[in-house]
Amino acid sequence: MTRAEAERLAADVPKEPYYAGRWRAARGAAAFDVVDPVTERCIATVAEAGSEEVDEAVRAARSALADGPWGKLDGSDRARLLNRVADLLEERSEQFAALESLDVGKPGFEPRVIDLPQAIRTFRHFAGWADKVTGRSIPTPGYMGRPTVSYTVREPVGVVAAITPWNSPTMIAAWKVAPALAAGCPVILKPPEDAPLTSLLLASLIEEAGFPPGAFSVLPGRGPMTGQLLIDHPGVDKISFTGSPQTGHKVAVAAAKGFRRTTLELGGKSPQLVFADADLDAAADGVAVGIFANQGEVCAAGSRILVARAVYDDIVKRLVTRAQGVRLGDPFDDGTTMGALISARHRDRVARYIAAGVAGGARLVAGGRQPERPGYFVEPTLFADATNAMTIAREEIFGPVAAIIAFDSDDEAVAIANDCDYALAATVWTSDVGRAHTVAGKIKAGAVAVNGWSPLDPALPWGGTRLSGHGRDLGWAGIEASTEEKTVTVVL
Ligand code: NDP
Repeated sequence: MTRAEAERLAADVPKEPYYAGRWRAARGAAAFDVVDPVTERCIATVAEAGSEEVDEAVRAARSALADGPWGKLDGSDRARLLNRVADLLEERSEQFAALESLDVGKPGFEPRVIDLPQAIRTFRHFAGWADKVTGRSIPTPGYMGRPTVSYTVREPVGVVAAITPWNSPTMIAAWKVAPALAAGCPVILKPPEDAPLTSLLLASLIEEAGFPPGAFSVLPGRGPMTGQLLIDHPGVDKISFTGSPQTGHKVAVAAAKGFRRTTLELGGKSPQLVFADADLDAAADGVAVGIFANQGEVCAAGSRILVARAVYDDIVKRLVTRAQGVRLGDPFDDGTTMGALISARHRDRVARYIAAGVAGGARLVAGGRQPERPGYFVEPTLFADATNAMTIAREEIFGPVAAIIAFDSDDEAVAIANDCDYALAATVWTSDVGRAHTVAGKIKAGAVAVNGWSPLDPALPWGGTRLSGHGRDLGWAGIEASTEEKTVTVVL
């Protein structure tokens, strides 16, 4: 699809809140512009949901619960609707992928081979769970001399507010929306202000799939406005959030007021460990993907590259070659392998980290500059001779910038990997199966991958600990996070 075709698609996407089964022109005067990060042009103006819309959407979601039109559906009906969403997404995946490239600035192939297939698989995976949300039968010794029968049932946690970031809006919306809907929860999605278009398109597709009113809503708006109104609303039972630790903290504080549940996925500073016995060519390829995919705007980005001293110079050389092979450019041009960062503000933030890397004494071996052209581009950037104490090795940059650090032993590699405020993901490159399992066992992270960066799958739980947050999206864990387990004991 060409840029002009994608822009026409963007013009046709509804640009207002959707709830209670209808699109609504927001009554507040506020609206916000969506800027294409490659051309720096406004591609859409979207109406912002204010307090009235948030309130009405929450009320509609609550009335869909229990005896409402969503609560009354059984698991197989929910499965049918979720499969219908997957079918429609599959039919329109080219449109979604083009819109995602336009909105986020990512190269065309990425949404086609990653975001959309993942989103489709996620809806199908949770369609599969929808009629299997079972409890447990638990043997107990009896009560006051009388036998008992005890079992549990899983009930929907209630209204779920899903708040998503701009880096992979379709895929992350699917991660949050599909498990909650499968479990029987109504969902209200607050998409990112910088890239809301595919979430609005997803709402129109969910409407087309035939979900009953109140089961799904989308409320576009700015985080401190619409987002804050939503997380403060007492009618929201659970908040599922992906974004920064700073906003995650606000979500946790708002949720604590009503002892409401949260799932918080707050990014990382993930290590990629390259041992001397690794297949160095495969490791260099994989490590480069791990830091440069999606312009490095990935929660699991492997931004700390830890390399055994024996192969350090070799790996640095290979990674520099990979960085120099990246083709920055328009996502709609053939051959582009890296697009633009999401906004001028974010580009400037990444540039400040690059300056901090130089000032901190790391050796800049690739990139570091912003090309002279419109768009929020930053070259793929590598720092060698970095230490784990440097700012560039400690803070999440969320751009194509990595610190390469040497280690002398397995214990030191693990110690550096774990000396981090975040604990989301890690990658280990080795050809020694014993070392792979031992190191994977010792690393503090929600997910460890061996010999392949971040092999995501909707069946695998996803989330972290420490500053990376808590709770898990995806897999059975996604169902657990969307349900309460109720115990029933019958004294016979
Ligand atoms: P934020 O955490 O601010 O945004 C994530 C989502 O939260 C967006 O939908 C945002 O809305 C919303 N939000 C913002 N403020 C509030 C609030 N007070 N109440 C409720 N919702 C709110 O991340 P940024 O987009 O500002 O990115 C900043 C940094 O966060 C990045 O540089 C990166 O380090 C990290 N990040 C991590 C991600 C991850 O995958 N874990 C994803 C994105 C960012 P709006 O878009 O309108 O601001």
